[in-house]
Amino acid sequence: STSFAILFQDWRRKRAIARIPPRPIEIRSDEIVDGVMGLIGNTPLIRINSLSDALGVEILGKAEFLNPGGSVKDRVALKIIEDAEAQGLLHPHTGSVLFEGTVGSTGISLATVGKAKGYECCIIMPDDVAIEKVQVLEKLGAKVERVRPASIVDEKQNLARKRALEFGQTPLIDPPKSNPEVVLSTKADSSEVGHEVNSSESLVPTITLPELLKPALETKPRGFFADQFENESNFYAHYKGTGPEILRQTSGNLDAFVSGAGTGGTVAGTGMFLKKALPELKIVLSDPEGSGLYNKVKFNVMFDHKEREGKKRRHQVDTVVEGIGINRITQNFSLGLNVIDDAYRITDEEAVAMSRYLVAHDGLYLGSSSACNLVACVRLAKTLGKGSRIATILCDSGSRHQSKFWSDDYLRENDIIIDPSIIDRLLES
Ligand code: PMP
Repeated sequence: STSFAILFQDWRRKRAIARIPPRPIEIRSDEIVDGVMGLIGNTPLIRINSLSDALGVEILGKAEFLNPGGSVKDRVALKIIEDAEAQGLLHPHTGSVLFEGTVGSTGISLATVGKAKGYECCIIMPDDVAIEKVQVLEKLGAKVERVRPASIVDEKQNLARKRALEFGQTPLIDPPKSNPEVVLSTKADSSEVGHEVNSSESLVPTITLPELLKPALETKPRGFFADQFENESNFYAHYKGTGPEILRQTSGNLDAFVSGAGTGGTVAGTGMFLKKALPELKIVLSDPEGSGLYNKVKFNVMFDHKEREGKKRRHQVDTVVEGIGINRITQNFSLGLNVIDDAYRITDEEAVAMSRYLVAHDGLYLGSSSACNLVACVRLAKTLGKGSRIATILCDSGSRHQSKFWSDDYLRENDIIIDPSIIDRLLES
């Protein structure tokens, strides 16, 4: 009968299982990470096969797009929040709000880490940033405020600072002090920047509150301006994280490190750490057109005369590349300026071509700053001998850039040519 058939089947299944000799399973508790924050950092370094094979130089990309918030900025958000907590400026689950001006990645990271740690998040963004970043931020429960695309004065940063003060930011602003491990003689002379707006001149008054007032402040909701451009926690996220990871992953067998700079935290923090560990290593900046950093690195001026005459000075760089390029020296960039050996200026067409080339050859769907970095890697590889190794940062994925950098329509409307063969020619040259 049916019940006999079921019993027989069950007996056979049990017998089959019993016949398989038990295999010892190694229980490794380090394979379980502690919440979302446990997913941040320790990203793999991937060999970009198409470029490495064509060049005979190994091009290695740090897969930062694998962070839970989708970009390299998760490291920075975590470090900024942790350092602020350690200083008593932020207290979780008290209704405290993080404020930041950002083109997107940092906002998404602050919202992600903020939610995991018990903070609300308010992001101020220029209104020409790719719409999908706003949508992600809103889904993450962040409040988004739009401002005009920045001109000389960085409106989004100033508004974020103002909002944090309005929300009762502790006026006890004691900016995270530089770690004595880092030689501060590398700091840029800010007078060289001339009449550039120096946002490191904090608008927040430095008042030391009596110790007695502190416990009262701790229970109240507070605002906190993350200040990624000037806050040195950004630099230290890379000095203590990204840099040591790359050194370990390459066993120190590395000839150059390439990175772009938005706040400058990545190139300065990672660059400083790697240069100290490997003094022969070259640190190279990849800079989009319109950014002033190329001239700063090459000629120690922010603008050449032609640019001064021809173009209105803009704070925000006029390029389809989002996240890198800037026209002032930030505190985070200045910490690493003296370790940067060289710079390449990358055109929008080159970055677009590289992104399409990588999808076609490697199945890698990357954002615009990653593409810029890889163009710089190819140029640099041409100057290094075969068998050399270059590491760079793959900051985020293409999904953050669908409506601009990855939109053929948008590129055509903005007269940006889409021609992946630019990369073939670059590789052959
Ligand atoms: N790539 C992307 C996509 C970014 O959002 C940023 C940060 N603005 C960077 C690169 C540059 O990193 P950093 O701010 O450390 O210079």
